[in-house]
Amino acid sequence: MDHFLYRDGELFAEDVRIADVAAAVGTPFYLYSTATLTRHYQLFDEALSGMDHMVCYAMKAASNQAILRTLAELGAGMDVVSGGEYARAKAAGVPGDKIVFSGVGKTRAEIRQALEGGIRQFNVESEPELRILSEVAAALGKTAPITVRVNPDVDAKTHEKIATGKSENKFGIPIAKAREVYAEAAALPGIEVIGIDVHIGSQLTDLAPYELAYQKVAELTEQLRADGHTIKRLDLGGGLGIPYTRSNEAPPLPSDYGALIKRTVGHLGCEIEIEPGRLIAGNAGILVSRVIYVKQGEGRQFLILDGAMNDLIRPAMYDAYHDIVPVVEPEAGIEYQPYDIVGPVCESGDTFAKNRMMPPLKDGALVAFRSAGAYGAVMASEYNTRPLVPEVLAKGDQFAVIRHRPDFDEIINRDTIPPWL
Ligand SMILES: *Cc1c(COP(=O)(O)O)cnc(C)c1O
Repeated sequence: MDHFLYRDGELFAEDVRIADVAAAVGTPFYLYSTATLTRHYQLFDEALSGMDHMVCYAMKAASNQAILRTLAELGAGMDVVSGGEYARAKAAGVPGDKIVFSGVGKTRAEIRQALEGGIRQFNVESEPELRILSEVAAALGKTAPITVRVNPDVDAKTHEKIATGKSENKFGIPIAKAREVYAEAAALPGIEVIGIDVHIGSQLTDLAPYELAYQKVAELTEQLRADGHTIKRLDLGGGLGIPYTRSNEAPPLPSDYGALIKRTVGHLGCEIEIEPGRLIAGNAGILVSRVIYVKQGEGRQFLILDGAMNDLIRPAMYDAYHDIVPVVEPEAGIEYQPYDIVGPVCESGDTFAKNRMMPPLKDGALVAFRSAGAYGAVMASEYNTRPLVPEVLAKGDQFAVIRHRPDFDEIINRDTIPPWL
């Protein structure tokens, strides 16, 4: 459920007229709904009620500080995957002890940054990382709380680019090797083992892979405890999928997911941590764009938008489907027609949809890409020297620009021409 609905023949974000935002900000822009972000966070929080838990938002999905602040004020922790994300979370007001550090390639500098600024735990992904972490922590006279990310060799049944829990993926250590790695961790200075971490992929639309993975984590918890380790926290990752189209079967609800967690690991008495990203931000954001031209091609009509693959790369990168809806509500009974919906970037890959049935649209019409809140703005680039797309946050009847659109000078002045040229 989200808060982007037609009212009086026009699309609104909560109580904000989207056409008003377009007039104030220009197009294209991302627009997020505070009420939707809040609701999605609360669904997870409620799904884990009755268990000691923390929802650590995977901020790589949408990392604007206004979004982080919104979630942090509700009690969310953050899952970060880089020093930049760590700094952003801190800047948004998230305390270090609510920040979890994930990722396969943490550098010494990033490890030092997190140890100095405070950290809830590192999710360690390899033995070399474990050794560097020990070295850096010991040199600083600090102790790094850790979980080891285990790779359960489970097929998440999602797009290959976002599956992370199969043995051929680069993530985590093979679960069969876990006892060995925990034994090494326990013997290293500057390391405190506190739990286990697992994350098997993104946009999961079936709970069965979670069930398999969490059963393996439960077994491992008992083995590691028998080996003498303290396992008091289980980080179960993120990955729950969202509906990208309203006609598809709906993916499992956070409440079903919470029940699964209770069933598989609830008896272990561990604190439960989850790291959802997409389900919190995905349907809480849209990308609004304007039709520049309607172009008649050979046997097809193109809608050429002012938004492009650099603004929303998911269709080009993952063959992702996004509902695209006109901001002016189509009249009842109007005949739909097929369009190829494209951006102005000089690549054929800059195609959002082919043969998409839409009501007739004219130059200047506004359209909204639904479910664009996660892995949208964060993956945007300035390819073709197109300004980074701005972000806007709506709350009730107010809206605010939370990332401005850079002007050309701002973009161009980042380059430096060497004096010898
Ligand atoms: C990307 C990622 C997540 C979030 O995945 P979603 O599909 O957005 O929920 C959580 N944990 C880790 C370690 C990740 O890499």
